[in-house]
Amino acid sequence: MRFFVPTDIYVEKNCVKNHAQNMLSVGTRALIMTGKYSAATNGSLDDVTDVLNTGRVPFLVFNEVEENPSTDTLRKAARSAMDFKADFVIGIGGGSAIDAAKAVALLLANPYVDPDDLHKAPNRPLEHAPIIAVPTTCGTGSEATPVAIITNHKIHLKKSIPHIIFPVLALVDGKYLATAKKQLIVNTAVDALSHMVESILNVKSNTFNRMFPEYGLKLWGECKDALLANGNVDASLYEKLMLTSTIAGMSIAHTSTTLPHGMSYDLTLHAGVPHGPAVGYFLAAYTEICAKFVPDDVKKILSLLGLKDIGEFTTMLQNLIGTYSVTREMRDQFAAAMKENRSKLDLVPGKITPEDVDSIYEKSLTLV
Ligand code: NAP
Ligand code: ZN
Repeated sequence: MRFFVPTDIYVEKNCVKNHAQNMLSVGTRALIMTGKYSAATNGSLDDVTDVLNTGRVPFLVFNEVEENPSTDTLRKAARSAMDFKADFVIGIGGGSAIDAAKAVALLLANPYVDPDDLHKAPNRPLEHAPIIAVPTTCGTGSEATPVAIITNHKIHLKKSIPHIIFPVLALVDGKYLATAKKQLIVNTAVDALSHMVESILNVKSNTFNRMFPEYGLKLWGECKDALLANGNVDASLYEKLMLTSTIAGMSIAHTSTTLPHGMSYDLTLHAGVPHGPAVGYFLAAYTEICAKFVPDDVKKILSLLGLKDIGEFTTMLQNLIGTYSVTREMRDQFAAAMKENRSKLDLVPGKITPEDVDSIYEKSLTLV
């Protein structure tokens, strides 16, 4: 049994300012990676640049990270980082900006690696420049995971890259959620929920790493009514939602994700569905299949969430993210690919059959 999360993580209001010295000690020239707008409008970019300016650390802002970052964007950002002679990378934003920052930190330390080859297994573990993560969505927990999910459009692949890249420092402040639309908060909270459920319903689940999702699911259950209610989420819950997301990241840092995440990638890649709902559509049916293998774990998850049974779990998810329809051809293609995906299938805590996989798709995606 092993426990390992090497990131220095702070979760508190005004976190970036409070830990300015930690940030300034990481490097001497920073590449800041963000999406197009959100970091500039929610205050996170200003908080970070204020600290860097005070510490006289030169920085360059690359604000072109798209949702589900691509190898093409990484190539452009890595070139900018190298030209600027950056020696550390700060990812500010949702999982897309943070994952992109991780991959660029790897490219920075290994200039001979082509971004299009990032999904190939390396011959030896590769170094990376240090990364600081400042999350602004409450979903991926990327600030506490070693994973970067990257899309290579040339080979139609969205997948994690096989490199271990933990940020050195994570500064988590719920206040950045103030600019997020309700559905973004809901979508990303469903992602965090999936991380915790998939971490428990997982062969790698053990006593150490269960502490995280079990506590996080309780916190998530406390936010559930606010997520389901009409109207905006009250600001008093922002910090709890962010903390839950970071805890969910710590959960998958130990176990990785299983089928719902494996299934989501095709839905995002081929149908453009945002990450949280793309995962959430599969979550109840996966949980139901796992009830055959680990019934006590499923009972525990439902009780921590304050739910009676799988039926209530299904209804709650539908109320949060709705349902999604695809063509029969698409669904069959996705299912066929999933049945070959040993890296995810082998994490299911029981002997899952091809029929089980079909049944998850049938229950999760309706037909157009
Ligand atoms: P995202 O793709 O990072 O961002 C989604 C949208 O939210 C963007 O349009 C972004 O705008 C906006 N946004 C971000 N923060 C905001 C805020 N505070 N207020 C208003 N708008 C805001 O979404 P995400 O769900 O956090 O990340 C999804 C990515 O993470 C996927 O690629 C997924 O596969 C990956 N992921 C990674 C891990 C991991 O462990 N590394 C785990 C799960 C998922 P801007 O573009 O303007 O910034
Ligand atoms: Zn996820």
